[in-house]
Amino acid sequence: MAVNQQIQQLLKRNQLSITDSRAKILELFLQQQGALAHADIEKKSGAGFDRVTVYRTLQTFVEKGIIHTIPTADNSILYALCKDECTEGHHHDHHVHFVCRNCNTTICLDDTVSPEITLPAGYIAQDVQVVINGICKDCSISKTQLQ
Ligand SMILES: [Zn+2]
Ligand SMILES: [Zn+2]
Ligand SMILES: [Zn+2]
Repeated sequence: MAVNQQIQQLLKRNQLSITDSRAKILELFLQQQGALAHADIEKKSGAGFDRVTVYRTLQTFVEKGIIHTIPTADNSILYALCKDECTEGHHHDHHVHFVCRNCNTTICLDDTVSPEITLPAGYIAQDVQVVINGICKDCSISKTQLQ
């Protein structure tokens, strides 16, 4: 499916009107392999959307279940596209995130489910985020080719 069509469908399904910023930011996510930071989006959108517009658009997408947030070690937030199961107010992104130390990309490992963790009595888990640091597939492949 063409990216344009995908954007229109996604916005329509979530009852969002198509605006320049929404379309452009969704396009970035659809074309990107890994997660994006606010700053990347501002830079890559090229259209000169201001911070507030980018911020509001991202908030709307998170609320609608189009993208989800990923915490990082330096406390900045990354955003990545959700799978179809996510709906407004209900995210089902229980997958592991992988941060590549070589290319600095953060990737959603959609098929790798976060492990169940047993907590001591009295603790209630509300949100479990598993982030693994290492070398991604692309980087490990190019490394073996070099050898
Ligand atoms: Zn989600
Ligand atoms: Zn990598
Ligand atoms: Zn993810």
